[in-house]
Amino acid sequence: MSADEHIPDELKNLLESNRRWAAETEQRQPGFFTRLAKQQTPRYMWIGCADSRVPANELVGLMPGEMFVHRNVANVVVHSDLNALSTIQFAVEHLKVEHIIVVGHYGCAGVRAAMRGLRVGLADNWLRHVQDVRLRHRKRLEHLSPEQQEDVLCEMNVIEQVGNVALSTVIQDAWARGQKVAVHGWVYGVGDGHLKNLDVTMDRPDTVVEVFANALKRYPRASSLPASPADEIADDADTQFGPGALS
Ligand SMILES: [Zn+2]
Repeated sequence: MSADEHIPDELKNLLESNRRWAAETEQRQPGFFTRLAKQQTPRYMWIGCADSRVPANELVGLMPGEMFVHRNVANVVVHSDLNALSTIQFAVEHLKVEHIIVVGHYGCAGVRAAMRGLRVGLADNWLRHVQDVRLRHRKRLEHLSPEQQEDVLCEMNVIEQVGNVALSTVIQDAWARGQKVAVHGWVYGVGDGHLKNLDVTMDRPDTVVEVFANALKRYPRASSLPASPADEIADDADTQFGPGALS
């Protein structure tokens, strides 16, 4: 008796589909799995949202073994997240990936919850990081329509996370020893299947602040908002990105 008999039909279908895929892959590329079993040598790392509509390899036509992937709610990278940092460290120091791509997507439920202040549960604490992005850049957001704000916050969240990856000890150490690794920011349209480059590539420590500031400048600020303590936070965020050691 097969172990598969004890699982629901819908999961049996997944296992059957997997066997077909493995057979077809092996037929197209004989020895594919035997080669991969020996080692992985991906050139790319993808840091994306856990959303089911944004499957990393599939969107860019890459096969198993070609991209190292880390996904979480709203593609956030924070400096206290040992999961993300360990994954980035393994990718950079052991696999020697050359490109780390932070990929957000429009229509992100995590970004929407952060934007509208919706309570979703435990994830509220995680999404606080996205709310912080919103607060820091509120002067570039609040004059837009709610839909535009959401799209722009998806993009700004990517820009911030690219900065967080670039400022991590892993990337700083890699650059300090001369390793070639670049951090990029893209956003994906779940409605059209297209990836957009946000032109926020960081590939050396001395240009991180400039790249960040230039990326943000593309989102005009409203000049008519009255001054408030939150505006000061927003002003500071635009001019004081990153630790002083990098400037
Ligand atoms: Zn999402």
